[in-house]
Amino acid sequence: MISITGLDGCGKSTQIDLLKKYLEKKGITTFISKAYTSDFKEMLASYLEYWDPATRMFFFLALDNQQCVEVIQAVKERKIVIADRWDESYMAYHLQFGILSRDKTLRKRLHGLVFKRIRPDITFLLDIPVEMVSKRTKSRRQDFFDKNPIEYHIKMRNGYLRLAKARNTMIIDGTQSIKTIHRMIIQEVRKLIFKE
Ligand code: ADP
Repeated sequence: MISITGLDGCGKSTQIDLLKKYLEKKGITTFISKAYTSDFKEMLASYLEYWDPATRMFFFLALDNQQCVEVIQAVKERKIVIADRWDESYMAYHLQFGILSRDKTLRKRLHGLVFKRIRPDITFLLDIPVEMVSKRTKSRRQDFFDKNPIEYHIKMRNGYLRLAKARNTMIIDGTQSIKTIHRMIIQEVRKLIFKE
């Protein structure tokens, strides 16, 4: 499994699409995996802010769990999974905010239950300054998280960066051109898949 992670607007979908096309040209069947899809985002836009924090937590855990189930199935079918985030948003959020930030035992148990100790073979963090998020996502409908103050987004960015450093994730400057980032990703993926 290859995972591409980072803040909204950092370029995950763009790079996933390019990587998928690249791999499929080489005859490799891919499976794109994403927990919080734009359909869910759209559907829930008017609910999230009224929900109790625990309801939100359970809802996102349910989405993460479903993502994991689908990934397991795709791996069984010998597909190369490209995940639009894995557990990084769970970690970055719950280490810093809400109920689970105060309960390490429960945070770890729920993490184990949902992500089932599955780790991507390689993770790329596309790091962008938070000021760039709103510029890149201005055409999208803002959701509950987007409306948070800038301090929240700075904390999330730092959370992703801390996690990436602890996990040997490849951190890519997401402000570079789409082509440059694609080239960097391909270089690593080739080593992983084609042992080059
Ligand atoms: P994400 O999936 O992380 O939310 P997207 O891939 O949807 O991000 O990109 C958000 C917007 O930013 C899109 O309009 C996309 O074309 C643009 N974009 C993506 N990567 C870059 C880049 N490296 N430089 C400039 N614009 C980019």
